[in-house]
Amino acid sequence: ELILETVDLEYSYPDGTSALRKVNLQVQKGEKLAILGSNGAGKSTLFMHFNGIYRPDSGFIKYQGQGISYKKKDLTDLRKKVGIVFQDPDSQLFSASVWQDISFGPLNLGLSEEVVTQRVKQALLDTETTDIEDKPTHLLSYGQKKRVSIAGVLAMEPEIIIFDEPTAGMDPRHAQEFMQLLEKLSDEGKTIILSTHDVDLAYSWSNRLAIMYRGEILAHGLPGELFSRTEIVKRADLTIPWLIE
Ligand code: ADP
Ligand code: MG
Ligand code: MG
Repeated sequence: ELILETVDLEYSYPDGTSALRKVNLQVQKGEKLAILGSNGAGKSTLFMHFNGIYRPDSGFIKYQGQGISYKKKDLTDLRKKVGIVFQDPDSQLFSASVWQDISFGPLNLGLSEEVVTQRVKQALLDTETTDIEDKPTHLLSYGQKKRVSIAGVLAMEPEIIIFDEPTAGMDPRHAQEFMQLLEKLSDEGKTIILSTHDVDLAYSWSNRLAIMYRGEILAHGLPGELFSRTEIVKRADLTIPWLIE
């Protein structure tokens, strides 16, 4: 069942940089999709389109079969369904304390205080941040900030959760815990999209994979099939750890 789809998406930045070139991507409900690409491939730009932060120059995005609308109210609805955890946690944290930051999203949805409290508690548990719930966000370590920014998105209970290079800058122990959290979310039926330049991670984690390079999807399919086509991985300027030249 198709949940999200892009059709011939094109986007250039105001300075003329062409960041997306006819991107056609299908996301199935409940899948684990990895977007693999080197720096500058267009992964973050693509994600900014998925919840309407950016609007394409041409082409369109469909959520559950419907072209997304850029009216304010429709965008608010879309952002309940499609949550993005940005690469830089500082762009997502702005409140006085961890608790306030995590509750900000669900409070804005107009949920009752009990429901918000319950969601925040669950998100704190899921991200192992209960011990720091009263701390000021600006005093947290990078890893803690990262987990709090994830908790804030989880508390919105989105259908699709997008993680932009989530393990970049995480220490190995937190990266491993994060991967366990992804498994749990996936088991709960969430659709998960993750971007990375880590070939090992993309290959081992995803059940479907898209390889991006310079604004284009070079290939899209099952990880096992794509990695036997090493020429694509090399063309995308990615390092294959297990391939000896
Ligand atoms: P990735 O997330 O895969 O590293 P990005 O989506 O950040 O790639 O970038 C895609 C392309 O767009 C790159 O060429 C990058 O330099 C360019 N780009 C990204 N952000 C901006 C911006 N704000 N203004 C101009 N060009 C940008
Ligand atoms: Mg980048
Ligand atoms: Mg990026």
